[in-house]
Amino acid sequence: MKILVVNCGSSSLKYQLIDMEGEVVLAKGLVERIGIEGSILTQKVEGREKYVIKQPMASHKDAIKLVLEALVDSQNGVIKDMSEISAVGHRVVHGAEKYSNSVLIDEDVMKTLEECSKLAPLHNPPNIIGINACKELMPNTPMVGVFDTAFHQTIPEYAYIYPLPYELYKKYGVRKYGFHGTSHRFVSSAAADLLGKDIKELKIITCHLGNGASITAVKDGKSIETSMGFTPLEGIAMGTRSGNIDPAIITFLMKELNLTIEEVDDIVNKKSGVYGISGVSSDFRDIEDAAWKEGNKRAQLALDVYYYKVKKFIGSYAAVMNGVDCIVFTAGLGENSPETREYVCEGLDYLGVKIDKEKNKVRGKAVDISSEDSKVRVLVIPTNEELMIARDVKEIVKG
Ligand code: AMP
Repeated sequence: MKILVVNCGSSSLKYQLIDMEGEVVLAKGLVERIGIEGSILTQKVEGREKYVIKQPMASHKDAIKLVLEALVDSQNGVIKDMSEISAVGHRVVHGAEKYSNSVLIDEDVMKTLEECSKLAPLHNPPNIIGINACKELMPNTPMVGVFDTAFHQTIPEYAYIYPLPYELYKKYGVRKYGFHGTSHRFVSSAAADLLGKDIKELKIITCHLGNGASITAVKDGKSIETSMGFTPLEGIAMGTRSGNIDPAIITFLMKELNLTIEEVDDIVNKKSGVYGISGVSSDFRDIEDAAWKEGNKRAQLALDVYYYKVKKFIGSYAAVMNGVDCIVFTAGLGENSPETREYVCEGLDYLGVKIDKEKNKVRGKAVDISSEDSKVRVLVIPTNEELMIARDVKEIVKG
């Protein structure tokens, strides 16, 4: 069974074609600048040169059409005919309270996705456009929606309700939803496999540390708490997002600087986080270089703030689970920065966390980096949201 996984952004589209026999990635690609001058598709197939197509793509439908052409291309493609694609899995950011699992997409689901758009106005609309484009071009192929919010639907009410007027939840859906669910689900399940344990017997803290970042407490295989909230702005400091701050800062800035809603939104989403503190970059590689090679103090401060925030979440999640058996590091920074893992784990020995500095010298591989006598296992696990999506699609289509 070959499954196409599609992740549509506002002007970009990522895709992978996965053969579920052996879970092999046949091709992966990225379409950029959809609807903007300079549209480009780049497709990678293991052991081959990159296949690049530069041609105008006015819409997501044009982009998907080109993806399908690239996949069946006689020289650069990996399948003979589109009919070899058994199903398509779509990453959808927001499923609100409606979806706690992935679903086969029908007219009712499409209506609900439209309704969820007001909760994720930047993310759900491009996801919907992508689904519609695929439906038009592949009308007989089943489409499945896999939601970033779904894994967190098991968070208990006392953890997802904000201490705000209750009517705001009832009328407008203001509550914690959580994001990156597909990644947290994938790495927590992979952690149990790596440890050779049943996930139902484990208390796991998964740290998805990328440009966007979130931390989740997984108990009995279920998400019971997560750092992102009503939107992906809550939680730890990120590349350009502030994470948790005193909400009164927003009104203070609006009054003091006479800022509009859009301007203040731009500050907390795009000008804050480690970028805001360091003034260097939102990319951790640049900040690490500035701090450690050039002695840039603000860059070092940004890193210190970041490690401190991650550590605080780990401590609080150990508290809500009454302990922790395993801490997982994943995503760009979590997988590739030994220093981040070392500094975050420093001073967590009261919890029984000890990492082995030699084992920690790893990048992008699934490895147990804790020392033999560490009570808590500390793991690096590369996330694979596309594979998780494809597995869900396979199960739903077969079912
Ligand atoms: P993601 O959003 O998961 O793609 O992660 C992107 C973030 O991971 C960026 O801030 C990168 O700087 C960071 N990252 C990727 N590779 C490394 C590395 N080798 N060392 C430090 N940070 C890295």
